[in-house]
Amino acid sequence: MSALDYLGEGFSYRQDVLHCEEVELARVAAAVGTPTFVYSSLGILARYRAYDEAFGAAPHQVCYAVKANSNLSVLRLLAEAGSSFDIVSGGELFRVLKAGGAAERVVFSGVGKTAAEIEYALNEGIGCFNCESETELALIDACASRLGKRARCAIRVNPDIDPKTHPYISTGLKDNKFGIDINEVEDVYRRALNLRNVEMAGVSCHIGSQMLDSTPIAEAVDRMIALTESLRALGAPIEHLDFGGGLGIPYRDADRMPSIAATIEGLCARAAKLGLELHVEPGRSITGSAGVLLTRVLNRKTTQAKEFVVIDAAMNDLLRPTLYKAHHEIVPLRRIPAMGYVEADVVGPVCESGDYIAQNRRLANVMPGDTLAVCSAGAYGFVMSSNYNSRPRAAEVLVEGDSFRTVRERETLEDLVRGE
Ligand SMILES: *Cc1c(COP(=O)(O)O)cnc(C)c1O
Repeated sequence: MSALDYLGEGFSYRQDVLHCEEVELARVAAAVGTPTFVYSSLGILARYRAYDEAFGAAPHQVCYAVKANSNLSVLRLLAEAGSSFDIVSGGELFRVLKAGGAAERVVFSGVGKTAAEIEYALNEGIGCFNCESETELALIDACASRLGKRARCAIRVNPDIDPKTHPYISTGLKDNKFGIDINEVEDVYRRALNLRNVEMAGVSCHIGSQMLDSTPIAEAVDRMIALTESLRALGAPIEHLDFGGGLGIPYRDADRMPSIAATIEGLCARAAKLGLELHVEPGRSITGSAGVLLTRVLNRKTTQAKEFVVIDAAMNDLLRPTLYKAHHEIVPLRRIPAMGYVEADVVGPVCESGDYIAQNRRLANVMPGDTLAVCSAGAYGFVMSSNYNSRPRAAEVLVEGDSFRTVRERETLEDLVRGE
């Protein structure tokens, strides 16, 4: 229907008025204020189901990567749909459990798990640790021994594949901090089988994020399958194979997202001969396109060199443009053709020259008081926000059909100093 791929499922213009499902976004801005993140439950569930259904009858788990968007109501929506979860901290485990997620369907990734986090996860009975080093395996073994438990573990493999994405979100190259070198995995796995409190259950990988090209994914799948076969030849038990997340989303109209169905079906076809449970850990591709950031124009400023649109959202609300030079489309809540266009930098109030949401961008010629939607902000948006410049963090709203509710209150000034 909409040619605007960066407006995810759930978002559309109706008679030039931007809606999230049945809700006019201007209504949300009026009721909740700005800046506010708005998520479409339909958009989130459609993507989750696209993954889940693509596996067909193959045994599988779709482990939503909590770090992409960890709002409790988003997690609850996914938990109720049957999702498993990929976490990278004890804090994320706490959120998943609060949201009604099942501990045994949680996998714990990350290079710096602390003993306290490992013990918390063991006490709650999580499904699997994705281990990133041999020393971590030893630590998990020691924690499990102390608690009289057995820890299910998989080895996170670094398959040395270039995901052809931003260097900050490449994780599967030899010189990245993640995983165990694919050439060392056999030895590590064999030694791990001797750990008394660890049960080796599989191998995992995650090579990067925002991948729009499916070639590196297919390469990683082939390497992981070959690795699994050689581990089995050694007699090592392998129950599951985890391919991580990383599918990209369209941030601009020219971006073509790899098809979830085709990617998963390809993976299943290649891995079928192994007869394993397959796991994936998508984050961005589930929530990214299902969210926008609503923001109001505060001011227009013209210098000799440039035109600026000053908005009430800033790098503390949405860090991606500053951190990765990421592109987010910015659209008006009401399209008025007579408005015309302006080429401008869209900047926030934070005292940093790096504080921008867009640079040299052609956008609707908006005026102070107009409200805009920053698109594709449902993943790595609110979760990366901070209180820099003593700015209270934005509100979050979840839309379901014709209703919407605040799922995180806007922070108050008192919230800013809590704990000081
Ligand atoms: C970040 C991360 C993911 C999710 O990545 P997306 O690009 O958001 O799909 C999955 N697995 C691990 C281990 C991660 O660190």
